[in-house]
Amino acid sequence: MAVFSSLSDRLQDTFDKLRGKGKLTEDDINSAMREIRLALLEADVNYRVVRDFVAKTKEKCLDAEVLESLNPTQNVVRIVLEQLTELLGETESALELAPHRSPNVIMLVGLQGSGKTTAASKLAYLLKGKRKKPLLAACDTHRPAAADQLETLGAEVGVEVYRGDGKDAVRVARESVDVAREHGCDVVIVDTAGRLQIDEEMMQEAVDIKRAVDPDQILMVVDAMGGQDIVNVVSEFSARVDFDGVIMSKLDGDARGGGALSVRAVTGKPIKFASMGEKPDSLEVFNPDRMAKRILG
Ligand code: GDP
Repeated sequence: MAVFSSLSDRLQDTFDKLRGKGKLTEDDINSAMREIRLALLEADVNYRVVRDFVAKTKEKCLDAEVLESLNPTQNVVRIVLEQLTELLGETESALELAPHRSPNVIMLVGLQGSGKTTAASKLAYLLKGKRKKPLLAACDTHRPAAADQLETLGAEVGVEVYRGDGKDAVRVARESVDVAREHGCDVVIVDTAGRLQIDEEMMQEAVDIKRAVDPDQILMVVDAMGGQDIVNVVSEFSARVDFDGVIMSKLDGDARGGGALSVRAVTGKPIKFASMGEKPDSLEVFNPDRMAKRILG
């Protein structure tokens, strides 16, 4: 996987070195853990996340049963895979919609450029495939082109877009729920404004929209290529808007994907979807085990 290709290569190198040794000593494990630590830091994984990850993995690998087993390297690889899966959230976390509420409301938040608008249309496409009838609400009223972009993407996936007056985001959000009801739509996906950095006005607007439409799910769109900074951004959103899960975008990109590996540990919130491209069908339900296996290569 592109964002993790360098990390994957380095982990493979570490395992290859261990394989060459046959029996493993405590020193072998220590030096392998040093390499893994460096590889993770270089992939831009948050340093606290790296520290905890390596400490846990090391403890498990130093277990006498592992060192004295017939194939200790195979056990080390298994432990790293298990820890990586745990770091990514262990199990798949489905999108929870309230069965007796119609329409359900899904609100997307995140920084500008993180991939919110794209994710909104992809989510609509995915829900359509599940026989839902979504409505996209263009509540990014700060960037004039945003509603046009959503309309274009909505047309591509055959989903109606509500733009209201295009000025008051909270009002557009509230009205979109009524419009959904009138048009027989069972899910509203609210696309909100982002900024290049966190700012008070953006946060307050997100809080106001949340209060106005009482979303069933708030998903934060996080650019996988964001690296270390993303930790501060998600922590801030978590404190102010308290989202339910993450859509990890741009996993097809070629920068380092450390943010993707840090976000679950930092927020405790599950990664629910992975976006791997610009096409409507490039949104997948995020599967930690599959992702960890892809990273290990
Ligand atoms: P927003 O400002 O958060 O609404 O971000 P956009 O949805 O406009 O996305 C910003 C840019 O990233 C656009 O050029 C998108 O086409 C691109 N983009 C979004 N998601 C992905 C993805 O998963 N992979 C790739 N390669 N590009 C993406």
